[in-house]
Amino acid sequence: MLDIKFEKSKNLKPIPDENNPLVFGTIFTDHMFVMDYETGKGWHSARVTEYAPISLEPSAMVFHYGQEMFEGLKAYKTQDERILLFRPDKNIERANNTNRRICIPEIPKEDFLQAIQAIVSADRKWIPTKPGTSLYIRPFIIATDPYLGVRPSNTYKFIIILSPVGPYYKEGLNPVKIWIEDDYVRAVKGGIGEAKTGGNYVASLASQVKAHDAGYSQVLWLDGVYRKYIEEVGAMNIFFKINGIVVTPMLNGSILPGVTRNSCIALCKKWGLPLEERKISIDEVYEAAQSGTLEEVWGTGTAAVISPVGELRWQEHIMKIKDGGIGALSQKLYDTVTGIQLGEIEDTLHWTMEVK
Ligand SMILES: *Cc1c(COP(=O)(O)O)cnc(C)c1O
Repeated sequence: MLDIKFEKSKNLKPIPDENNPLVFGTIFTDHMFVMDYETGKGWHSARVTEYAPISLEPSAMVFHYGQEMFEGLKAYKTQDERILLFRPDKNIERANNTNRRICIPEIPKEDFLQAIQAIVSADRKWIPTKPGTSLYIRPFIIATDPYLGVRPSNTYKFIIILSPVGPYYKEGLNPVKIWIEDDYVRAVKGGIGEAKTGGNYVASLASQVKAHDAGYSQVLWLDGVYRKYIEEVGAMNIFFKINGIVVTPMLNGSILPGVTRNSCIALCKKWGLPLEERKISIDEVYEAAQSGTLEEVWGTGTAAVISPVGELRWQEHIMKIKDGGIGALSQKLYDTVTGIQLGEIEDTLHWTMEVK
């Protein structure tokens, strides 16, 4: 058990009017959770304190060699005013997998969960309630040794900040147009692709800019060796329904193991749908699109939950899916996952956890 000190903010902010759109990741609550690490002392000084700037030496290691990790999950307020987290155990397990990969000291899972509960509880009045809204939770760890040599840091800060967010897409489910990148790559097996760390995102920016300039909202990555097998989208995993079969790339060491991905697989299996986790080449997807058997494509991730894909662009080929509309299975997955998250559908899989 952590002994968490509570230092109440003296500058409480107005809570945003839910009738104005909440733009993802732009507004932060009154408080943040902070805990420090020092070699020999371990994680210590857990506190909930005012959300405010932090002070670091310009030589802090995180600024130079990128030793940092993050997570992303959400809290929801139900009709009867309970607060639910969605599968926080999965995020915590993944956080410690990331930590091990990039030499950050692990956080005991009970302590991690206690920290999430404490900060969400402290700022519970910030959880929006309009349909499609939630409180986005962003835990992260940064290396803070003032040192320019290359080695793992001996000191770290673990921080959790909170941001009230609206529906990812204003009109509800909205099909996205995706650019398939066949020049740059995001990650290779043995690298850090399966860790949730900033380095993967910095590697993706140039492609994202290129895709945006061409009128596409996201990038779909191919594997780093052959530029042939489908990996994932910027911050989402990807699913295809081809000729009645649900297919998603298997976790191969370079793909981020998404919690939403795992949840969609579990639901498809529960519903008795044929599902394959395997290698899938871009040629297979293109041929399915040509022959009319590419029935649905959607992305999965905490921010949007399910993102139907209406168009894929690969080199000079444009593949239209569902005439740019939403598939029945994409819609059913969205309704089911969000229904469970909001406590509106019975949680037979025990995915939600209440914050007291
Ligand atoms: C976080 C993330 C995802 C989605 O994971 P969820 O746990 O479903 O939110 C997918 N890909 C990348 C690269 C990510 O960082």
